[in-house]
Amino acid sequence: MQTRHKVLIRRCPRYDPERIAAIVREGMQELGVRPRGRILLKPNLVMAHPEIFPHAFTRREFLDGVITAVKAVATDVEELAVGERSGITIATRYSFKNAGYAPIVRQHGLKTYFFDEARQVAVPLGQPQALRRRLFVPEPIARCGFLINLPKFKAHPWCRLTLSLKNFIGLQDDRHRLVDHNQFLEHKIADLQSVIQPGFIAIDAITAGQKMMLTPTPFDLGAVVMGTNSCAVDTVGCHMVHVDPAQVTHLKLSSARGFGPMNLDQIEVGGDFPLEQVRAKTRNFQFCHERVDDYFGPGGNLRCTVGRFPEPHSDDYCWGGCPGALQEAMHILRGFTPEVDRRMGRIRYVVGAVEGPLELAPGEKVIFAGRCTRWQGRINGRRVSIQGSYCSAGEVDEAATASNDMLLKVGQALARSALRLGRPYVHLQGCPVSVAEHVFTLASLGRIGNPLFDRRLLWPNLAAYAAMRSHRLLNRLKPPAGAAPLT
Ligand code: SF4
Repeated sequence: MQTRHKVLIRRCPRYDPERIAAIVREGMQELGVRPRGRILLKPNLVMAHPEIFPHAFTRREFLDGVITAVKAVATDVEELAVGERSGITIATRYSFKNAGYAPIVRQHGLKTYFFDEARQVAVPLGQPQALRRRLFVPEPIARCGFLINLPKFKAHPWCRLTLSLKNFIGLQDDRHRLVDHNQFLEHKIADLQSVIQPGFIAIDAITAGQKMMLTPTPFDLGAVVMGTNSCAVDTVGCHMVHVDPAQVTHLKLSSARGFGPMNLDQIEVGGDFPLEQVRAKTRNFQFCHERVDDYFGPGGNLRCTVGRFPEPHSDDYCWGGCPGALQEAMHILRGFTPEVDRRMGRIRYVVGAVEGPLELAPGEKVIFAGRCTRWQGRINGRRVSIQGSYCSAGEVDEAATASNDMLLKVGQALARSALRLGRPYVHLQGCPVSVAEHVFTLASLGRIGNPLFDRRLLWPNLAAYAAMRSHRLLNRLKPPAGAAPLT
C-alpha cells in the first residue's frame, strides 16, 4: 500500500520564537524528521524592508524558532547554515540586515550563504520531462545534505500562490534565475525540484500575504504548515485558501514528474488547526491574478496594450514574464510614491505581438517590453518598426546568460532615457525584462523618483552592493569546494 504524505497545520497566532520553536520541534518529531550532516535553511527573503516591504518575507522570529528546534533535534551536524538570494537585483546581505536575520544567525552561531556571492555550479537534472539538461545553482546548494525549506505563505500574481515549490526560485542567482522566467516559469519551478528535495518544510503562515509577492497585503492566518513533501504541502496550502491545486501549474507539472501528490486523498492532514476551520477563516483571502490590460484601467497614467505571445501553451498571455514584472514594479513605485499612478507622465506599455494603431494620447510615451514584442505603425507621425527577437527555451544557452547587475541596469535605464534623442518610445530587450529594469525605466520615462535613490535606501543599499561585489570576487578566487565552478 502507498504511504500517504503527512502535512500538519498548527495554530500559531503570534510571532513568538519560543512558541514557534515548540511547534516546529513537535512537528519534526511527529513527521519523523531528524536533520543531519550539512543542513541548510532556505527562507523566502525575496525582499525585506521594515517600512516598504514589511510582509514579503519569512519573519525573523520564525527563523529564530526553527533554528532553535533544528538544534534540539538534529544529529551528526557538519554544518548548520542559512542561505538565500533576494530578488530585483538587491544584494542579499542588505535584505538579511533589513529582515533582522543577521543578529539571530550570529546569536545561534550559524553560517550565512548569500547566494549572489557564492560560486555557481552546474547540476545535471536527468529528468526526461525537464526543460533543461542542467541548472546553475550556488555551490552551498549543490553541497547541501539536508535542506529545510522555510517559505512565506503568499498569494502570487503570476503563479497564484508561492509556497514550498515556488520558494526554490530563490535558489538561483539573478543571471540564472531569469532564464526561463517567462512563459516557461512554471516549467522552470518544476525543473528546480530536480536539483534538491527538502528534508523538511515549515511555512510561515502566521501573517500570510495577499495579492502581490513583493508588496503583499497582510492576512492574519495564524498558522504554521509543516511537511516533508513539497507537492503535498502545496496541495494543502491551496485548499487552505480555496485554490484548486490543478490551477497551480507548477504543482501540476511537479506532481506529474513524480515529486508528490496533488490530491487530498493521498495526503493525511494533521495538526491542531483543522483544514475546514482554516478555510472558514480565509473566505475573503485576496488574490491578484489579473492581466495588466485589465489591472491598469482608466484613472491612472499607465495604460497597457497586450498582443499575442509566442508559445502555444499560453499564446494569449505571458504569466511568468514582463507583464507580471510591470505589476510588481508599479507596486514597488507606489510603496515609495503612493500617488504614482497619477503623478507619473503618461505611459503606454506594449507587450506581445500587437497589430493596429496604438491611439496614443498627446504626450504619451511608449514602452515596448521584451523580445517577443512586435509592432509597426506611426508615433507622432514617424514610422516605427519594433522587430521581435524572441528565442524559445531550446534556443537559449543557460551558461551564456546576461548580467542583471543593479548598477548596470540603472545605468542602462538612464542611458536609454538620455539617448532617446526625443523619441517618445523605448524598446526594452530581455525575456523577461526584469522587475528592476521595469522600475528604473518607469521612473526615468515617467519622470518620477527612482526608488534606488530614495534616502532610506541609497547609502545602505550601495554599501551592501559594494560588499557583495567584493565578497563575490573573493569567493571566485578561492579553490572550489568539490563541484566544478562554471561561472
Ligand atoms: S519577452 Fe517578456 S512578455 Fe515576451 S515571452 Fe518573454 S517574458 Fe514573456
